Amino acid sequence: MTSHPVLQDARPPAVGRPMRERAWSLPEVRWALAASGLFGCAAAAHLLGKPAWLYWGLYLACYVAGGWQPGLDGLIALRRRSLDVDLLMVVAALGAAAIGQIFDGALLIVIFATSGALEALATKRTEDSVRGLLGLTPETATRIGDSGEELVGTAELAVGDLLLIRPGERIGGDGVVVDGASAVDQATITGEPLPVDKTAGDEVFAGTVNGTGTLWVRVQRPSADTVISRIGAMVAEASASKARTQLFIEKVEQRYSALMVAATIALLTIPLLLGSDLRSALLRAMTFMIVASPCALVLSTMPPLLAAIANAGRHGVLVKSAVVLEKLATVSRVALDKTGTLTLGVPALTGIHVRPESGFGRAELLALAASAEHPSEHPLARAIVAAARDAGLALRPTVSFTSAPGRGVRARIGDDTVEVGSPGQLGDDATVGQLVHTSERAGRTTVIVRVNGATAGVLELTAHPRDGAADAVARLESLTGTTPLLLTGDNPQAASQLAADVGIADVHAALLPEDKVAIVRGLEADGAAVMFVGDGVNDAPAMAAARVAVAMGRTGSDLTLQTADAVITRDELRALPAIVALARRARRVVTANLLIAATFIVVLVGWDLLGHLPLPLGVAGHEGSTILVGLNGLRLLRDRTWSA
Ligand code: ADP
Ligand code: MG
Repeated sequence: MTSHPVLQDARPPAVGRPMRERAWSLPEVRWALAASGLFGCAAAAHLLGKPAWLYWGLYLACYVAGGWQPGLDGLIALRRRSLDVDLLMVVAALGAAAIGQIFDGALLIVIFATSGALEALATKRTEDSVRGLLGLTPETATRIGDSGEELVGTAELAVGDLLLIRPGERIGGDGVVVDGASAVDQATITGEPLPVDKTAGDEVFAGTVNGTGTLWVRVQRPSADTVISRIGAMVAEASASKARTQLFIEKVEQRYSALMVAATIALLTIPLLLGSDLRSALLRAMTFMIVASPCALVLSTMPPLLAAIANAGRHGVLVKSAVVLEKLATVSRVALDKTGTLTLGVPALTGIHVRPESGFGRAELLALAASAEHPSEHPLARAIVAAARDAGLALRPTVSFTSAPGRGVRARIGDDTVEVGSPGQLGDDATVGQLVHTSERAGRTTVIVRVNGATAGVLELTAHPRDGAADAVARLESLTGTTPLLLTGDNPQAASQLAADVGIADVHAALLPEDKVAIVRGLEADGAAVMFVGDGVNDAPAMAAARVAVAMGRTGSDLTLQTADAVITRDELRALPAIVALARRARRVVTANLLIAATFIVVLVGWDLLGHLPLPLGVAGHEGSTILVGLNGLRLLRDRTWSA
């Protein structure tokens, strides 16, 4: 957990700290303010006709305040044989001072420091919102044991422990409320600012803050598995990658800068050789160097992308890198998994059919199936386990558990081998076939339970679509201009039923994980940029094959969270169209920025070479475009995309 810059900083999370205080904590901001202040004093002294030593001194102090850091960074970069635009700016300002244009040079430094501070501020806001999601689980929790209350480390908490959560306390584990009522502030993992009411039966999450009530919570996940620690580990792993556009610009920047320095030297020496005077040759060369610098180009890409990533993070969408955001903007086809993605995390068990010849009772069959499913993280498995618990059935220990994604599970329970899984995969005889057929025609999901190779019965499950599923599908359809696809391992009838409920016309059912991959590959081969949305281990291969993959953060398995490019921490489907729309907005801003930057450079350089561009105008134009581009990027911090 050390590679991510966000995590190296051990200061407490800055979420909610006022912007002013946050800005003040940045050295870039403090130095920029100092440079501006000194510039103001110097200019005043200059205009009021004070002695030259005074305002020169103040101007030079302004140079130092605004220029030492970029200058130093530039020199360090130079030692690694890379040419930094920052260094060019400092050299240009020093050149301006050398030819007596100290006012213009100092102005250049001030505006330069200001745009640097703006950039630092944008980066900081991004880091703050990501950090808000991380590492906020408290160290200890109050556990109610046999001997009463005891304070234990949250790392030691086990599934089934009962926790007492006092008012105002940060919750130590993921679990279910068994008693009490309170409003819980879940902003740390969902980004949602309003507290959510919790009573018995509701889920609570580690790292969220209890309001004024007291809660008793039964721990449901081991501490390494909580939503917040999984997301944290994932963010830590994602390297602070750079956007492709940015990498391209940086590659070009090196050659461009070298060319620019050569041109500046030529602009200085050729007129001198032709007999021009030193001062005017220097002035021209300096002006050229300033206006030709690619500062605005360099600032065009990352600030907008980072601002968009911060914005998404505040709304519960974790985008793993800037490259992902670039890819999200290109999405032209959306493929969605069914169980756990379009449907709620845990379906309901709606029927138990025992095969009479098997000799099992209904409760016995359910208990066997639940015992076999207990180790599985699949939504169907959780539904079966929950149904057995609700019926008060005791689960039996399992040995040699194996699960085949998209097929089912197998385990040894006592002397029996129990298999629970898809009818298509486990095979069936005529009576069972009839049973399965009837349930499936009614749009149910069915799983077969086999004991020692013989079918013992069929379990019938119904899953409801998540809130807003139909809306999300419709918005995705209008954004991409293509029909979303439903890809599921479930039976065709259950799939069609759900597809009809949420408005998907293109349904592919009874798929194994490799079939999902084949469909995604086929679409990509036809030129589509596929976004795959899923939650299960069975979706991971298709996620890897898709252009960009999104996982459901709460129901999603570890593997899915790792494979995914972005994670929806709130499991809200409306975040899907929102993130695509945001990525497209970011792409538009980047394109506009690149155009603005390039236009300014071309016009100002052309003017300087062909006509006579006054130095102050050159400085104003160059720095103006840099700041314009920087501010344009910050617009993406605004919430617009999410309100729709
Ligand atoms: P989806 O693609 O809709 O998310 P899966 O591919 O995970 O569905 O599962 C496909 C089918 O495989 C399920 O409908 C079920 O019949 C069977 N199956 C997969 N995992 C399990 C499991 N743990 N227990 C029972 N059945 C399972
Ligand atoms: Mg699934």
